[in-house]
Amino acid sequence: MSTDVMHIGPGNSVAELKESILGHFCFDVGKSPEYATLHDWYMAVAYSVRERMMEHWVSSLERIRDKHQKIVGYLSAEFLMGPHLGNAIINLGIEQQIKEAAEQLNINLDEILQQEEEPGLGNGGLGRLAACYLDSLTTLKVPAIGYGIRYEFGIFDQMIRDGWQVEITDKWLRNGNPWEIVKPELNYGVKLGGKTQGYTDEKGGYRVKWIPEYEIRGVAYDTPVPGYKNETINLLRLWKSEATESFDFQAFDKGDYYGAVHEKVFSETISKVLYPNDVSEAGKKLRLSQQYFFVSCSLQDALRILELRGLSLDDLPDAVTFQLNDTHPSIAIAELMRLLVDEYMVDWDKAWECTRKTFAYTNHTLLPEALEKWSLPLFAHILPRHLEIIYEINSRFLSDIRNKYPGDDDRIRRMSIIDEQGSKYVRMAHLATIGSHAVNGVSALHTELLKQDVLHDFYELQPDAFFNVTNGVTPRRWIKLYNPRLASLISDRIGERWITHLETDLINLQSFADDLSFQQAWRDVKKQNKTDLAHLLKQRFGMNINPDSLFDIQVKRIHEYKRQHLNALHIIHLYNRIKQKRTDGITPRTFIFGGKAAPAYYLAKLIIKLINAIGETIDNDPEVNQFIRVVFFPDFNVKNGAHVYKAADLSEQISTAGKEASGTGNMKFSMNGALTIGTYDGANIEIMECVGEDNFFLFGLDAAEVKAIKQNGYHPYDVYNNNNDLKEVIDLIQSGAFSKGDTNIFKPLINSLLGDDPYLVLQDYQAYVDCQQRVSAAYNNEQAWTKMSILNVARMGKFSSDRSIRDYCENIWHVTPG
Ligand SMILES: *Cc1c(COP(=O)(O)O)cnc(C)c1O
Repeated sequence: MSTDVMHIGPGNSVAELKESILGHFCFDVGKSPEYATLHDWYMAVAYSVRERMMEHWVSSLERIRDKHQKIVGYLSAEFLMGPHLGNAIINLGIEQQIKEAAEQLNINLDEILQQEEEPGLGNGGLGRLAACYLDSLTTLKVPAIGYGIRYEFGIFDQMIRDGWQVEITDKWLRNGNPWEIVKPELNYGVKLGGKTQGYTDEKGGYRVKWIPEYEIRGVAYDTPVPGYKNETINLLRLWKSEATESFDFQAFDKGDYYGAVHEKVFSETISKVLYPNDVSEAGKKLRLSQQYFFVSCSLQDALRILELRGLSLDDLPDAVTFQLNDTHPSIAIAELMRLLVDEYMVDWDKAWECTRKTFAYTNHTLLPEALEKWSLPLFAHILPRHLEIIYEINSRFLSDIRNKYPGDDDRIRRMSIIDEQGSKYVRMAHLATIGSHAVNGVSALHTELLKQDVLHDFYELQPDAFFNVTNGVTPRRWIKLYNPRLASLISDRIGERWITHLETDLINLQSFADDLSFQQAWRDVKKQNKTDLAHLLKQRFGMNINPDSLFDIQVKRIHEYKRQHLNALHIIHLYNRIKQKRTDGITPRTFIFGGKAAPAYYLAKLIIKLINAIGETIDNDPEVNQFIRVVFFPDFNVKNGAHVYKAADLSEQISTAGKEASGTGNMKFSMNGALTIGTYDGANIEIMECVGEDNFFLFGLDAAEVKAIKQNGYHPYDVYNNNNDLKEVIDLIQSGAFSKGDTNIFKPLINSLLGDDPYLVLQDYQAYVDCQQRVSAAYNNEQAWTKMSILNVARMGKFSSDRSIRDYCENIWHVTPG
């Protein structure tokens, strides 16, 4: 069968592609080309490209049926895939042919690519990491399935009105989605609510049965994930919730049509919308239902695949490994126990051994507000059986701890899955840690802090279970696809192997760092990328920025810990200097910001307003805007990121030390030739170690100093009073200079900076301003700057997600890449 399928595959010549596009136009779009819209062309091209993945898809499915291969199940509540078409074209290696086919059809490929609505099924870094990992898993030929939720509405679209963020519903499916294939036959029931009941089985054993209040259904929607020129496809399998029956016929018979439809509406609510909070937990009922919903479908699916391969439950840990992308899917541990113990009648100890061998957990944050916990009553209401199972897991675990540390009641309290202080909670990070054979942090520093701090007791108990896997990003999307000029320049000098061998090959660029003609070509690329971004901002938003100025960029979710407001304070410092005619040493700069704030995060939204207010004030002041400009690029997402990372001279990575677990934006910027101004935090540290201290602008407190200041008492008001320059900056905001005289609007922000600011913004202010002065000076030496930029790129090989995935394969999954 599979060999026959290979032969029906379509060809990749220009003529064949052209014919295929026209064919899809007729048969799938259903129009004559003379009435075509750009979107119609996009659909026809997308179907043609998808068709070219299908033959590999089918043979890749065969591999999933191969019982000797371990499959990686990557469980993640978010996948921020970005647009598919451009990526599929480069990974299939048909960009030249598609371009020519499009030309012959008189359509502009760039315009076609612009038509794709990005599937925004993630908030930021965590969801994007999952997407980079799928790309690398497939490129490394590791059989994998990404399991998640097919949200009907992804992360909101951001608009800026009067300087404020406005959220617009993300209707990404409105024009259809040519990349997914619904598999109606792959559907599973998911129970919710109700109660449990004990009973005695035939052998006289005590068993428990879950009598749910209702049941919904999850249906699989599959999206092919192509590897880079390797004829391998993996699967992104997202679950959509549906009603078990579309009508409750009993209610319908009694004439309660409304009641019957109501249940259908409720069932469909589960996968309706992505929660828009990055690194913070709302503790909402629907969110827990979402998590359980996708996890339950995914585990049932994995057990079906196990059976399909002719394997038994004993084989599970050798057949599948589940990676938990943060605690969001960690209910999977209790769910697998429930399936094994209640439904497959496996005895507890055996089930537990199997479960622990099957799961591994990635922690993504140390922020206390991000550590997921569910109130006990809420948990009991939705998942009564799982709560019992968690109690049993906890009681066995704590009895081991008691044996190991007799009399240490405080340790018991600290390690328990149940937080018993005040109102009770289920701590998901504890469940994830106890139920996994491996726990990993996402950068060297983050892993160290996990061991010392948040999971210290668990580390003491099982030091060998802790690993570091520093995050990475895929060079296919983030260099080759989104920075084609740089990619060609690199390939011209060192060949093309870097695209899949970043760690070994990119370093070969080093020998060109002093080559003056190479330097010139390097600068030309950057200049063209900056000019493109300037045009785009002009065309879309009427903004005016100068590509000859230094592009100083901070794009990422807006959060106090990321400290966009520290960046803003530096801008106001420059503003003051310009107004006071102290302009020597000021290098012309364009400050570019982008990022979404969680809709309920008031201070983050106020930071957006402040940035826009400063930008507007400067726009209207020619004395200032001959030196500096500030723009806020609305709706930062993967698609917009395509234009941003490659255009940066300077990358802002200025989080409070100890708060950014890794960051991946830092990697994208540096790989694309930006230098970093950054704190000693997350992966910044490793980036600096790789590129060299001389090629990195480090400033500010380190994590130990942050901790010490907090312990000794942080007094920002003293910092403010003792620094005239800082005082002028804060006072200028207070005075209403950026808010048309309104002295109230930014008060909450000022109060936070001068009050109990956990992110120590003012403490790092002077170090940051001084460091920015060094940046300005360095930028004025064109040749030296270019050399630093080349060295940055050459030494970033470690930060390919291929390396991260190899680390997972070797240390955690025990899988050999194909
Ligand atoms: C890479 C990326 C992020 C993560 O950025 P950080 O700077 O690491 O916070 C967030 N959003 C999008 C759209 C990204 O592409």
